[in-house]
Amino acid sequence: MTSSEDLRKRREAEALRIRSSLNRLRTEQHAAAKGGETAVAFVEERLCIGCDQCTIVCDDDAIDLYKVAMASPLIKVESNRKARIIRDACTGCRLCVLACPTDAITMIDR
Ligand code: SF4
Ligand code: SF4
Repeated sequence: MTSSEDLRKRREAEALRIRSSLNRLRTEQHAAAKGGETAVAFVEERLCIGCDQCTIVCDDDAIDLYKVAMASPLIKVESNRKARIIRDACTGCRLCVLACPTDAITMIDR
């Protein structure tokens, strides 16, 4: 019979495997995204959950969070937030693409 200690170890090993796999995927995704002065970040509003991760990593103050009304009538929250890119300030560094947990940010031609 599997002991709880064995189970804990197997869970930890599996969590590590999944995390490594996701990190590898993220690295490949980041490497494949275009960047530099000919590119600019773009936020797909539908996918943005307003989590603020992109503004934390952006050193160029190129991301603004604005308030929007909640789309769901089931959750009684007055406002939600979405990110938008300030195009002139964006340097195309791609850090926000890596930081976004919902893949809401892509790099597009400037
Ligand atoms: S690509 Fe870089 S500069 Fe542009 S919004 Fe993202 S983090 Fe900021
Ligand atoms: S990291 Fe992604 S989901 Fe979070 S606020 Fe920025 S664009 Fe939206």
